[in-house]
Amino acid sequence: MDGTSLITLEDVWKTHAPGSPAAVSGLSFTLKQREILALLGPSGSGKTTTLRLIAGFDRPDGGRILLNGAPVSGAGMWVEPEQRCIGMVFQDYALFPHLTLLDNVMFGLRNGSRKSRADSAREVLGVVGMEELAQRYPHELSGGQQQRVALARALAPNPLVLLLDEPFSNLDFDMRAGMREELLRILRASETSAIMVTHDQEEALAVADRVGVLNHGFLEQLSEPEVLYRRPDTRFVAEFVGQSDFIPGVVGDTIETEVGNFPNDAGLPAGARVDLLVRPDEVEVEAADDGQGVVARRRFRGAENLYHLTLRSGARIRSSQPSTRFLPAGARVKVTVRPAELTVFPGGDRSAMPGKV
Ligand code: ADP
Ligand code: MG
Repeated sequence: MDGTSLITLEDVWKTHAPGSPAAVSGLSFTLKQREILALLGPSGSGKTTTLRLIAGFDRPDGGRILLNGAPVSGAGMWVEPEQRCIGMVFQDYALFPHLTLLDNVMFGLRNGSRKSRADSAREVLGVVGMEELAQRYPHELSGGQQQRVALARALAPNPLVLLLDEPFSNLDFDMRAGMREELLRILRASETSAIMVTHDQEEALAVADRVGVLNHGFLEQLSEPEVLYRRPDTRFVAEFVGQSDFIPGVVGDTIETEVGNFPNDAGLPAGARVDLLVRPDEVEVEAADDGQGVVARRRFRGAENLYHLTLRSGARIRSSQPSTRFLPAGARVKVTVRPAELTVFPGGDRSAMPGKV
């Protein structure tokens, strides 16, 4: 076994209620020492269940979970949550309303005198920039401040790993980027490993060393952010991560599409129908009377003009252009696609396995 794995899940299953579909289906992955892993997926995909299984608030129906190489649940093993040295920040923060911030943070500290526990709690409140407010109560705080306290409470016992459930979902949009940077700084400074779950792909890509994509309890792919974006393993990942459009094609000597031909390096069988994945930053447009595309509409997004194009086949794709580049709706355009990596999926059938070239 890999000596640097902090958490290992081996074929973990969990169904909450008899007859309902599994919330977590055969989940296997590892968290490495000092790694920040994001689990990304839509609502109901099993993110919270996964964290609860790791923390020991839920028991798996099958499979094993190991912490530092030692089994903590599954196959007859069970280690209580408070023995696992895992810090958890809940989605709603779950601060104790009747306790001051200091007492909230001291709550998880069991060893030492009251004085030494208070000193430790003050120190970690300092790390999250909340020392001055130590005697306040949770209801006197903003969402962002409560988030910091929840983080401090989880960090105070010096956990092996921190589990964060949608840590920014209750924050106003303009606060999220700042809190995200702050969280990263705190995790890196304290050399804390973490698993963060989120349904926000931008957040996952920005924060994590690796991102796992969950779909109905299945882990579809676990990769570095760039790999996830450029080489998605499944159509679900392609659609969930980043903006994705598909251009239909047919395999001949090459992969033939209405925006040009692409090499069939993977040797897909002649005649196969495929969909070529394109991202808006891979699509160039140029006004041309005989072009294959028409500008359906333009979305001004500040730094960017996002053009929605319709191709002759009816396929719709988007092109990201600088905000200074103006093309009116209705303009006919020549479309050039330059994929950084060529990714194709079987045409039509959305459940099929991907073919990659
Ligand atoms: P996520 O955090 O990704 O939104 P969850 O892990 O909370 O997903 O839920 C996964 C699935 O398990 C969902 O279908 C949800 O309805 C179900 N589920 C979660 N918790 C329970 C529970 N305590 N009892 C019954 N079903 C549950
Ligand atoms: Mg959840």
